[in-house]
Amino acid sequence: MGEAAVQSKSSARLKPGVVTGEDYLTLVEACKAGGYALPAVNVTGTNTINSVLEAAAKNKADVIIQLSNGGAQFYAGQGLSDSSAAKVLGAVSAAKHVHMMAEHYGVCVVLHTDHANKKLIPWVEALLDHGEAFFKETGKPLYSSHMLDLSEEPIDWNLDECARVLKRMAPMGMSLEIELGVTGGEEDGIGGEFDESADNSKLYTQPEDVLQAFDKLNPIGSFSVAASFGNVHGVYKPGNVKLRPEILKGSQELVARQHNAGPNPLNLVFHGGSGSEKEKISEAVTYGVFKMNIDTDTQFAFSEAVGKFVEEHPKAFKYQIDPDDGTPFKKFYDPRKWLRAAEVGMAERLSEAFVDLGSKGKSLAQA
Ligand SMILES: [Zn+2]
Repeated sequence: MGEAAVQSKSSARLKPGVVTGEDYLTLVEACKAGGYALPAVNVTGTNTINSVLEAAAKNKADVIIQLSNGGAQFYAGQGLSDSSAAKVLGAVSAAKHVHMMAEHYGVCVVLHTDHANKKLIPWVEALLDHGEAFFKETGKPLYSSHMLDLSEEPIDWNLDECARVLKRMAPMGMSLEIELGVTGGEEDGIGGEFDESADNSKLYTQPEDVLQAFDKLNPIGSFSVAASFGNVHGVYKPGNVKLRPEILKGSQELVARQHNAGPNPLNLVFHGGSGSEKEKISEAVTYGVFKMNIDTDTQFAFSEAVGKFVEEHPKAFKYQIDPDDGTPFKKFYDPRKWLRAAEVGMAERLSEAFVDLGSKGKSLAQA
């Protein structure tokens, strides 16, 4: 890329709303060039989605909204008996909500689906059926990107599958997140409970594997890599996890050398960001991490706020009217009251994430 192109990208402005295709690439490049990353927040319903949008708007930051298969199923409703259908319908419904609302919050939003292992490839392909239909209607894909996490399979099979699916996504300007190496811990039934005593060498991605992925996928379309550098899903006791962000540097340098590319040619993703030391987060961002997943910490912030609300108004969650003095409690048990407290709690935690990742005030959106 020439000097002029870099110049124009760094001052690029985008239309607020869901970004896909060229706009998605502009946003990712701006993150890497500007040395900041976007939080990718797992959502499960309109409360959590709106909380993310509110926090992004308040911090003048762009953001990534993502659904796991379980989150998508929950969005559709746990009462729906066909769970496979629910996972698809929930993800479609959530995406349509975000397409409808994001532009009104005045920020750019990347819409993404989280971990899909071998069993969940049909889920991603069903979403691509919906994505292609949406693309025909609107000229935009339904999602900006999907993830395929085939890191438990042999690497050749992993990359062949990723190439096959990316071939379908690329014509719509969609990007694919892949995983190499294994993020420790369990998330939504994918991966195992983190075992500190096990041989954890797989917790560190090998640069040769990343190069192999680049060689195979870069000619097809846009992709990003969830690289492992000791990161673990969930929050564990301090000291149990050794984060080594310098692992990422090795992969960037190898690919840059082999392909005569500029610094940080890879778009990297940091999974298991909750509970990580702030210096390690900043260091990872300097090595081309543009996306950091956050789920555990925002889940806790959402629920902590509800717990606090219930503790402050305990009687309102037992009686409609105060049994002692007849005061009506409607203004406390109205679900909007305690759900609003939850939204505010989650948004406050996200404000912290925007600061940690350096993305506060960096939104590219311009109406
Ligand atoms: Zn993850």
